[in-house]
Amino acid sequence: MHFVSTRGGVPPTSLSGAMAAGAAADGGLFVPARLPRLESGAGRPAGTLAASAQAVLGPFFAGDVLEGQLEAICREAFSFPCPLLPMGTPQDWVLELFHGPTAAFKDFGARFLAACLRRLARPGEAPLTVLVATSGDTGSAVAAAFHRAPGVHVVLLYPDGRVSPRQAHQLGCFGDNVSALRVAGSFDDCQRMVKAAFADTQLREGRHLTSANSISLGRLLPQVAFHAHAAWTHGGPLNLVVPTGNLGDAVAAVWAREVGVPVGEIVLSTNANRVLADFFEGGPFRPRPSVSTLASAMDVGDPSNFERLRWTFPDDAVLRAQLTAVAVADADIQDTLRQGEGRHGHLFCPHTATAVHVLEGLRARGDRRPWAVCATAHPAKFETVVEPLVGHPVDVPASLAALLSRPAQAEALAADSQALRTWLLRRPGT
Ligand SMILES: *Cc1c(COP(=O)(O)O)cnc(C)c1O
Repeated sequence: MHFVSTRGGVPPTSLSGAMAAGAAADGGLFVPARLPRLESGAGRPAGTLAASAQAVLGPFFAGDVLEGQLEAICREAFSFPCPLLPMGTPQDWVLELFHGPTAAFKDFGARFLAACLRRLARPGEAPLTVLVATSGDTGSAVAAAFHRAPGVHVVLLYPDGRVSPRQAHQLGCFGDNVSALRVAGSFDDCQRMVKAAFADTQLREGRHLTSANSISLGRLLPQVAFHAHAAWTHGGPLNLVVPTGNLGDAVAAVWAREVGVPVGEIVLSTNANRVLADFFEGGPFRPRPSVSTLASAMDVGDPSNFERLRWTFPDDAVLRAQLTAVAVADADIQDTLRQGEGRHGHLFCPHTATAVHVLEGLRARGDRRPWAVCATAHPAKFETVVEPLVGHPVDVPASLAALLSRPAQAEALAADSQALRTWLLRRPGT
């Protein structure tokens, strides 16, 4: 299978080539030349998440140098569970994606990408710089996945003051080969700075930049796996509510359905950033500056993976028939967090709460089909939002507690591409 850019401006490349490059040199995003279809009757692989991952990702790896190692990569990356749990009401499910080392779903993608890049590294090669803009959870997942990996330097950019205190701590607590930069701006600023760095040939080649954002195919593909595993585990068409910011998890859900996994309807839940809701309600796709919300990891005004959705369904009318999107206000997030335990028997994080709110709306309108909400992070990561609303402390998972017990440190940086360029060039090669 070959991979091309959404903008059509680079020659077809292998999956490994696309994963190593991160973003395409023409500014586009890598996509498979054609989405594969699982053979009909391929059915659900029994058992583990790693087995589901191997089954659904196999066709994407066909002919790649990593094809023979896919099983080992899946075992390494999918080493913790993603349980599909009942929510108290019949046909309401929660897909818990936060049982990895940094307690958000991004651990799956980061660990998979790291497992692939590690196998692609050639001895004696110049060190790689993994450059990441993060709205909070990507950065720590990538840092955890690459921490102390030989020949890799991880540089994280996050919007200062716009991630939760525990997220900030997680980003700064790794040290060693991980540098955390707190940027005086928004996530969109961070993302713009990273894009500018990749567009700068001297930087990209001189520093061997690679991306680990959700634009990286090596992070996106593994996210197809947990949707597939959930749908196969459930056994019938499973409808999904996916909390969305940059559309990574959402594109993965759409691709899962396109390759033939029994995913039914897909509804995207966003916070008050309305760019997707406006588009799916029939308006133009109009990126705009993000606004800060309680679901801060989804404070995105220009979701970069929209380009992949457009590539998957080039006709806007067709695209709008595939998905819907609902913007959820902070007041509804608060209400859902407050009521979540009583109504559903679960504590949620603010991002997951957007999806739960959307599901409650579907039920109120009489929908009786099976729906799963994707629980994208553990509520303990956002305790300053969650605890005052639920009125009691939220238990901290052991892996998160271990990170929080380490000292943390981050360097300040202006929200300016030139400042990042200077920082990257000043830093001696590792
Ligand atoms: C990143 C993130 C999201 C949004 O995911 P995308 O793939 O960027 O749409 C939602 N919830 C949490 C907790 C996140 O960290």
